[in-house]
Amino acid sequence: MNELKSIENSMPQSDARALGAHHGPDGTFRNPWAGGTAHGPADMLRWNRERRQQVLAPTPPRGSFPTAAPEIVRPRGGAGDFAATWIGHATTLIQMGGLNVITDPVFCDRAFPVQWIGPRRVMLPGLAREALPPIDVVLLSHNHYDHLDRHAVKWIARNNPRAQWIVPLRVGHYIRRWGAKEITELDWWQSASVGGLDVTSTPARHFSARTFRDRNKSLWSGFAFGIAGKRVWFAGDTAYHPEFTRIGESCGPFDFVMVPIGAYEPRWFMRIVHVNPEEAVQIYRDVTSPHPTSKPIMLGIHWGTFRLTDEPMDEPPRRTVECWQAAGLDSDRLWVARFGETRRLVG
Ligand code: ZN
Ligand code: ZN
Repeated sequence: MNELKSIENSMPQSDARALGAHHGPDGTFRNPWAGGTAHGPADMLRWNRERRQQVLAPTPPRGSFPTAAPEIVRPRGGAGDFAATWIGHATTLIQMGGLNVITDPVFCDRAFPVQWIGPRRVMLPGLAREALPPIDVVLLSHNHYDHLDRHAVKWIARNNPRAQWIVPLRVGHYIRRWGAKEITELDWWQSASVGGLDVTSTPARHFSARTFRDRNKSLWSGFAFGIAGKRVWFAGDTAYHPEFTRIGESCGPFDFVMVPIGAYEPRWFMRIVHVNPEEAVQIYRDVTSPHPTSKPIMLGIHWGTFRLTDEPMDEPPRRTVECWQAAGLDSDRLWVARFGETRRLVG
């Protein structure tokens, strides 16, 4: 069955206002909050010019960040098991409620349309694609190359024909072409239940593009999901925005959250697409604020894997730890993972 389930399809496409301010009148998507517009070619040129004029920290040698041997329960954990394994960048395997859930599976060598130029991996995936356990649910945050890897989609779809793919609006057509079958597209705040996992799409401040012709034609989002009394939030790829408290209110309290901490310099360019460590810690405070007694573990993602931006590649975790301490948060609640590291999240 090659089925594209889209809850949103039942709404009139023409009435963008009814759909929410992130729907543009021309069918593309946009960030509904004030402060900062999309970058154009002139900004790219300015960034390139500035990069040439300064000495950036060198990209660390391949394999220089710490690694750990993953501890995967095969083929699946029990109903009460709850563990996460950081594979690298935004790719995390979560074993919960007897399901194997993976976020933004990326295993390619370069986050780029072709594999001979573009940002090359500094770290190999902490778990090889071939070593993945059976995958039940795949959560895709958006269509950028460092989050949506065609070869990974093909491999997972071929080896897991019954996997459920949860994606933002208009991302389905990419992965259907590559073999994914059970696809559910969600608009922000829409929910679906797949295999016992309850998933809600949460707003992110970002953009989408894979080619010169598809800019913002598909949506971007995070996901809150839960099963067996445990709740997780994957922030996706995002800049700071005013709705994180509402995400915590509507979808929390969480036991585990994954928040990006890297790819933030230069700020004049990146602040409308990626958070920096200060903002990542603020996001944690926002999503936990409606439930003051909840103290989820935060995994810092989106760093150390591909050289995408100008900050030193080892700065995001260091600076996140500093901000975490400065905010007076419990040090054992911040997880700066080694590549491939598994953490049991029960208790
Ligand atoms: Zn992105
Ligand atoms: Zn990204």
